[in-house]
Amino acid sequence: MKKSSASKETAASRKAVAGKKTPATKAPAKKAAAGKTAAQKAAAKKAAPLKRQAPAKKPAVAPKKAAAAVKGVAPAKTVAPTSPRGESRTALVRRARRIDRELAEVYPYAHPELDFENPFQLVVATVLSAQTTDLRVNQTTPALFAKYPTPEDLAAAVPEEVEEILRPTGFFRAKTKSVIGLSKALTEDFGGEVPGRLEDLVKLPGVGRKTAFVVLGNAFGRPGITVDTHFQRLVRRWRWTEETDPDKIEAAVGALFPKSDWTDLSHHVIWHGRRICHARKPACGACPIAPLCPAYGEGETDPEKAKKLLKYEKGGFPGQRLKPPQSYLDAGGKPAPPLGAG
Ligand code: SF4
Repeated sequence: MKKSSASKETAASRKAVAGKKTPATKAPAKKAAAGKTAAQKAAAKKAAPLKRQAPAKKPAVAPKKAAAAVKGVAPAKTVAPTSPRGESRTALVRRARRIDRELAEVYPYAHPELDFENPFQLVVATVLSAQTTDLRVNQTTPALFAKYPTPEDLAAAVPEEVEEILRPTGFFRAKTKSVIGLSKALTEDFGGEVPGRLEDLVKLPGVGRKTAFVVLGNAFGRPGITVDTHFQRLVRRWRWTEETDPDKIEAAVGALFPKSDWTDLSHHVIWHGRRICHARKPACGACPIAPLCPAYGEGETDPEKAKKLLKYEKGGFPGQRLKPPQSYLDAGGKPAPPLGAG
């Protein structure tokens, strides 16, 4: 997981590509251009010269060769573009849930992309994921947990030795301090066990709400929304919320979905952000939810060019985890290489 701060909230984010389904039908790009840069507006105009705010008269279906951009993609769907401007609450809820359902079909094997075998490993890995990739964390933690398998072991570690192991993750001195402090708190205050309650988790050094929800959702099976950098970017592109504060985004998006969907929703959104809806060059022309996206046209709309932007497991790209779940491997995903191997 990639994060924005190495301090209190030490969280997560990540990458791979293409859709199981048909890439995009063309959506009302110009509408989505509102509030964009001049370049984005120009790109959107070129991609879909529709009148601002006006619904598309006829949804354009992605060209067949665009559909073929992604292995295992289903036939193109002709979904009428939606108009977020003035969209009712009911319509927003329906559109948001439909996007999640579509993503669930594209990434049925979505999972947390940090390798872990127990809650202790997950909370440490999540703390380490600040300002780096999940891949780099996954390549680093095997050595860490081999030497310090329990909170007690890490609490008693010599900092310089931990720093050497954590060096590849960046900010290794601060992270060493965090994980040793975290381990001491677990040992002294929680009997060496990671607590399963939000209010306890956020008291741990280096653990904020995002890290806490990652742990609750994935190690304890308790619903949580992970508002990382991908999540923030995508929900704003989809106009699920205009909020910019992570806690407010969490509340606003949480209100659109049943609680039981929160953890999987987080995975779906983050996976889409890593594989198709990238920060700088979203692959709109190969995006399976383009008909539902008001930001269609913000990225490359040409199917062939968009296809080249994909980072998709079905295209043979390695994932973030050295030990991914079997469902991911069954779907054609490849494990990430160990440190030093690539
Ligand atoms: S902005 Fe993202 S979600 Fe929207 S169509 Fe482009 S790639 Fe897809």
